[in-house]
Amino acid sequence: MKQLFALFGNPVSHSKSPLMHNLAFKALNYEACYGRFLLEDGEKLKETFFALGLKGANITVPYKEDAYRACDFLDPFAQKVGAVNTIVEHDSKLHGFNTDAPGFLKAISEFESIKTVLFLGAGGTAQSTSSLLREKGYEVTLLNRSKERLHRYEEEGFATYTFDDFTPAAYDLIVNMTSAGLQDDSLPAPLELLKQLLPQTKACIDVIYGKETAFLKLAKKYQKPTKDGSDMLLYQGVIAFEHFTDHAYSFEVIKTTMQKAFILA
Ligand code: NDP
Repeated sequence: MKQLFALFGNPVSHSKSPLMHNLAFKALNYEACYGRFLLEDGEKLKETFFALGLKGANITVPYKEDAYRACDFLDPFAQKVGAVNTIVEHDSKLHGFNTDAPGFLKAISEFESIKTVLFLGAGGTAQSTSSLLREKGYEVTLLNRSKERLHRYEEEGFATYTFDDFTPAAYDLIVNMTSAGLQDDSLPAPLELLKQLLPQTKACIDVIYGKETAFLKLAKKYQKPTKDGSDMLLYQGVIAFEHFTDHAYSFEVIKTTMQKAFILA
């Protein structure tokens, strides 16, 4: 029987995930289909998952913490960061994973000689990725426009700054981890500050995908190698697919089939 998968979030209409997974299922002759579900209430995630008869799901904004609470079993990394973006059902139990951070790690590993990383932003995505990067030996510094979200990073021993107490220095990689630039052309940090940071960096990444943000445009003016969030999105999807299909296919095979989603509109 065909297995069913879905994306939960609010909104979900813009997401490439259904196309990515359906392309891979089709190319690999895997009997499955992936849809999307606009969830209004995160508390209803588990009952909706079972009511729809799903085998697995991805979870996007704003329900990754609800997904964490909905799972019966958690992979150690998902447990550590408190956010789940991939669920697989086995024997009527929900198993939760976080594939955003390993997806991001894979995306940045394609840049060479990166050791020090400056995150602009300190939200949910920064949380899981900073934790994994540190585990893998990167030195992560967080710069956020306001203080509140920085407290938990400070407690975990990260160097944290707001625009007021930050002194620009040389970082190998600068990452826009904010939503600045998603709906408009705003920068994730003051222009004067970025003008001091960018000449000293080796590369820049934006986690936003599907458009060239003001941040990436500026980085290009300094002739820096750049990436938008497409690779992160692709790689988190590949790793989720590995979980969905119980590791029946290699990363490279899945990647080749899924990346067609980025050619199709
Ligand atoms: P959160 O809402 O958890 O955090 C948002 C962060 O952005 C906060 O640090 C906030 O600062 C900061 N911020 C928002 N607007 C501005 C602004 N105008 N100027 C400066 N800082 C700003 O968001 P997420 O961590 O969930 O998502 C962050 C981004 O990552 C989004 O754009 C999302 O689309 C993208 N993303 C991409 C993925 C991919 O696969 N490519 C996967 C997951 C997310 P403050 O604390 O001051 O409010």
